[in-house]
Amino acid sequence: MSRLDTRLRPELEAREQAHLYRRRRTLESGQAPLVRVDGEEFLAFCSNDYLGLASDSRITEALQQGAELYGSGSGASHLVLGHSRAHHQLEEALAEHTGRDRVLLFSTGYMANMGVIAALSGRGGLVLQDKLNHASLLDGGALSGAKLKRYLHADTDSLERQLSSSDSPDALVVTDGVFSMDGDIAPLPELARLCQQYQAHLMVDDAHGFGALGKHGGGVAELYNLNQEALPVLVGTLGKAFGTGGAFVAGSETLIEYLIQFARPYIYTTAMPPAVAHATLESLRIVRSESWRREKLAVLIQQLRDGVEQLGLDLMESDTAIQPILIGEANKAIELSQALERQGIFVGAIRPPTVPAGSARLRITLSAMHTEEQVDRLLSALEQAVRSVAVE
Ligand SMILES: *Cc1c(COP(=O)(O)O)cnc(C)c1O
Repeated sequence: MSRLDTRLRPELEAREQAHLYRRRRTLESGQAPLVRVDGEEFLAFCSNDYLGLASDSRITEALQQGAELYGSGSGASHLVLGHSRAHHQLEEALAEHTGRDRVLLFSTGYMANMGVIAALSGRGGLVLQDKLNHASLLDGGALSGAKLKRYLHADTDSLERQLSSSDSPDALVVTDGVFSMDGDIAPLPELARLCQQYQAHLMVDDAHGFGALGKHGGGVAELYNLNQEALPVLVGTLGKAFGTGGAFVAGSETLIEYLIQFARPYIYTTAMPPAVAHATLESLRIVRSESWRREKLAVLIQQLRDGVEQLGLDLMESDTAIQPILIGEANKAIELSQALERQGIFVGAIRPPTVPAGSARLRITLSAMHTEEQVDRLLSALEQAVRSVAVE
């Protein structure tokens, strides 16, 4: 073993001992309820493809058309002639969809969050984040060099205590719209009110709500009718409900110009392939016009919740497509997901450090492409899995 490997080995072994070791599986089909994984077919409940668009043939065709029009790669960063007409059209269409002045595309949601937080705050500033915020938001805070504080999850009293005891002007309050491992929605109207009262600025990362929530798929901003003044910094991602990839920030003309000048993860990276932007225009059309997908999702969510409650499992409070069952110990969550896998069903076991210690869970996610029969199949497999793991 090399000296470097000798240094790395013990940490890997400790992680394995703690049942926290992560292994990748190889997906051989497109993302869909029925997938091929390492040569076998499974019914999957673990993608973020909430509207079932990742394998939609109309979007695949748009991707092909985009490749014919613009080639396979952007070839440069946005500021060095990598900003194509497809990117520009998508920005304009997303600005209209979100009711904002302007939109700026980023290559990934992770980079959008890092870029925005680090551009908007810095040494001497204050960033207040929900305790359960996504890693990319926390990392953006760390990168900014600002003072960081975390308020209790979805607890506006806790946030207000921090806001009222701070003397930093222009605090940035940052929250997930829909919490990725819990599925609950942030108390946004109250957060927006507190930000107005204390002259702070609200930033929402709506990775899991955008497309899936709101009458037209406008996400939490549409659900709560939060305009640009109440919610000045809105981040959405395109790799989840939209079925393609990439992300964006929506806000005022000034905000977007500021980010173009100062957001380093925007400036120093290659623009997403223009064909992806072109395909995402088709996603957006479908997201807006096919509201039956959101309605179908709501029906499946209710069916699953009723079924899981009947099994007496500890279902977490969530109205979204993310439906976690709290298990507790990491090894038990793993055993349950393995018992489901033996029955041909994939559900992610989420363990620390992604979630707090002792709160390992099965994270079931639903897609509008699942059928009611498939949800029934999951429910019977869960019943079986719980019985077999309890017996062992
Ligand atoms: C998935 C996710 C991201 C990252 O977005 P990518 O486009 O996948 O990089 C950011 N925030 C939240 C809350 C997410 O769930």
